[in-house]
Amino acid sequence: MSRSDTVELVYLVCAVCFIVALKGLSSPRGARVGNLVGAFGMVLAVGATFALPGLHRIGLIVVALAVGTAIGLPAARSVKMTAIPQMVAAFNGVGGAAAALVSLAEFDRSSAHAGIGTAAAVLFSTLVGAVSFTGSVVTFAKLQELMTGRPIVLPAQRLINATLGAAVVGLVVWGLAERSVLAAVLLAVVALALGVLFVLPVGGADVPVVISLLNSFTGLAVAATGAVLRTTLLIVAGTLVGASGTLLTRMMSQAMGRPLSNILFGAISATPTTASVSADVGDRAVRTGTVDDVAILLAYARRVVVVPGYGLAVAQAQHTVHELAGMLEARGVEVVYGIHPVAGRMPGHMNVLLAEANVPYEQLREMDDVNPQLPVTDVVLVVGANDVVNPAARDSPGSPIYGMPILNVDEARAVVFLKRSMRPGFAGIDNVLLYDPKTTMLFGDAKETLTALLTAVKNA
Ligand code: NDP
Repeated sequence: MSRSDTVELVYLVCAVCFIVALKGLSSPRGARVGNLVGAFGMVLAVGATFALPGLHRIGLIVVALAVGTAIGLPAARSVKMTAIPQMVAAFNGVGGAAAALVSLAEFDRSSAHAGIGTAAAVLFSTLVGAVSFTGSVVTFAKLQELMTGRPIVLPAQRLINATLGAAVVGLVVWGLAERSVLAAVLLAVVALALGVLFVLPVGGADVPVVISLLNSFTGLAVAATGAVLRTTLLIVAGTLVGASGTLLTRMMSQAMGRPLSNILFGAISATPTTASVSADVGDRAVRTGTVDDVAILLAYARRVVVVPGYGLAVAQAQHTVHELAGMLEARGVEVVYGIHPVAGRMPGHMNVLLAEANVPYEQLREMDDVNPQLPVTDVVLVVGANDVVNPAARDSPGSPIYGMPILNVDEARAVVFLKRSMRPGFAGIDNVLLYDPKTTMLFGDAKETLTALLTAVKNA
């Protein structure tokens, strides 16, 4: 068996590792092992590549690996869980740029004798990889709050998009007909602009869907680069990322109750309105409670639903909320957690957080299971959540989150919000439920408030 055959065989093992990894990652129980199997496959793939015959500039590759490891490893180890979506966006962008650059470099080397298939793969990878790069940069800036999370639509956005679209078609035709490297480079420049214009009009609450979509773009760009380099493993890995990203995008837009086209282009086609960003809350007052009032409400309830959100992650209050739930259960109160699919800042955020505090899986109820039970629930304790319980998503057609299924906590007998202020959630819109007569506000950091509640329930 030749050396390149052996490498191909190792690549096959790596591809199996990636598939097993995805299977593991599809459930919280298998995620840790899945991650390790995927990482093992990746290390094996990189190692085997060094054994490929005719590999040049090995020193440069080692330096690039060292730089990448020096940046990636500490970044991944130190990232806060609340900042993981930004990190995914950043890593995804780098992946897209790498795919585009590798394709361009290969085209530059071999364009004179490239077939039409190779040219098509180069142009595809350049276009999609570059869109993914700048799109991810803007996504990162939105999530990191380096810029506004509100949709930004340029005055002549449709015209600009149409012009850039026409330029893409022209450059692709030129690139294919003449195998022109210049056409490919110009295509990259146009695609960089398209990436920015693609993400700017997407509102903050829809950004997670865009990350997932850009992730699938990067996967497809990598697969096309694999076709250019004739590397089976890149084709397999890229296709896996492309397919899983596409499925996740679909599932997320379903969870938000909106077609993908509306999430991506809703702001461009919408008629400008200011009513959409502030619900009509009139000049109603807010009812502020004390920890002792709420402790009595909880201690004498029969059924309590805890709705965790992003603020629970910020306050790192998962252990404290679990302790409170345990104390209530010891008093005969039935406690479950209502988990919204996009609560927090990444899919599964609340599940991971609560699993960390050893909350039993059977207490975590999905939105569709919890909603029918809410009218017979005595108290809903909303811990650092806001958008996912905002009735505007159900009742206000002008709202940016209209159509997103929510936890209908307004149907419960009493609602208690634990948050620090009246500030809105990620979508930047008011929540009428904060002003509802059945709502009690407990202002403060969620962990501090829950700790105080623990003592108060003990004494109730
Ligand atoms: P929201 O962002 O709507 O609300 C979080 C609330 O937590 C805020 O109102 C904030 O209020 C409060 N908060 C923040 N820190 C603390 C703290 N230390 N103690 C107590 N409260 C705190 O979160 P939700 O989980 O309800 O909704 C998620 C939103 O994020 C949705 O709009 C979703 O679309 C979007 N999103 C979801 C992603 C996902 O995949 N899950 C990814 C990216 C975005 P205050 O400042 O007053 O304390």
